[in-house]
Amino acid sequence: MEFIDPSLLTYCEDHTSKEDDLLMKITRQTQAKIMMPRMISGHLQGKMLELFTKMQNPKAILEIGTYTGYSGICMARGLRTGGKLITIDINDELETMVRGFFEESGLTSQIDYRLGNALEIIPTLPGPFDMVFIDADKINYRKYYDLIIDKMNSGGIILADNVLWSGKILVEKGQKIDKDTQAILDFNAMIQNDPRVENILLPIRDGVMMARKIQ
Ligand code: SAH
Ligand code: CA
Repeated sequence: MEFIDPSLLTYCEDHTSKEDDLLMKITRQTQAKIMMPRMISGHLQGKMLELFTKMQNPKAILEIGTYTGYSGICMARGLRTGGKLITIDINDELETMVRGFFEESGLTSQIDYRLGNALEIIPTLPGPFDMVFIDADKINYRKYYDLIIDKMNSGGIILADNVLWSGKILVEKGQKIDKDTQAILDFNAMIQNDPRVENILLPIRDGVMMARKIQ
């Protein structure tokens, strides 16, 4: 499902700061060599993440779902001096490629790349976090949120990607709902009813839920 007219999208991209050579290279190599290249954040969402991070000026960011490193590099660019991004992915086949991109970004001293299951790794992380980007398996969004919410600083921002799930969240009466769609529906409803956060569902790309911890 296209959420926005393609010519409007092109216009938006034409009025968004250009991707640099490294981000273009990551996109090219992801498309050429990696399964499901649609998962990469890309130009518009990457710049949004970078600018949000620069506004937040975080000391500690957690990313759940590194993939080929695009979104992680965008966020690491907005870290406070001396700040750290911890980014987790379960797919170790991407490791060499991703480490190479992190090297090229010049930010390796600020990026802590962990391979493994985020459900097992997050409980070992002390936090606190000023920003978290949830972008791994949709079925576990709720669990990730439960694992991180008490590790967020007040004013900390949680971003969760793909919360419109290509429009599948609009279910008609009597229609069968698959597990991932149900997980996203439950996640969005849970955030909407959580008094610990104020939130907005941004209709950017595949939908980004932004929730700010109130206290
Ligand atoms: N954030 C990236 C895209 C992430 S794609 C970007 O915007 O460019 C989703 C990633 O989540 C995949 O690389 C997948 O390997 C990872 N993933 C899925 N289940 C996971 C789990 N349980 N723990 C850690 N990573 C997981
Ligand atoms: Ca995503």
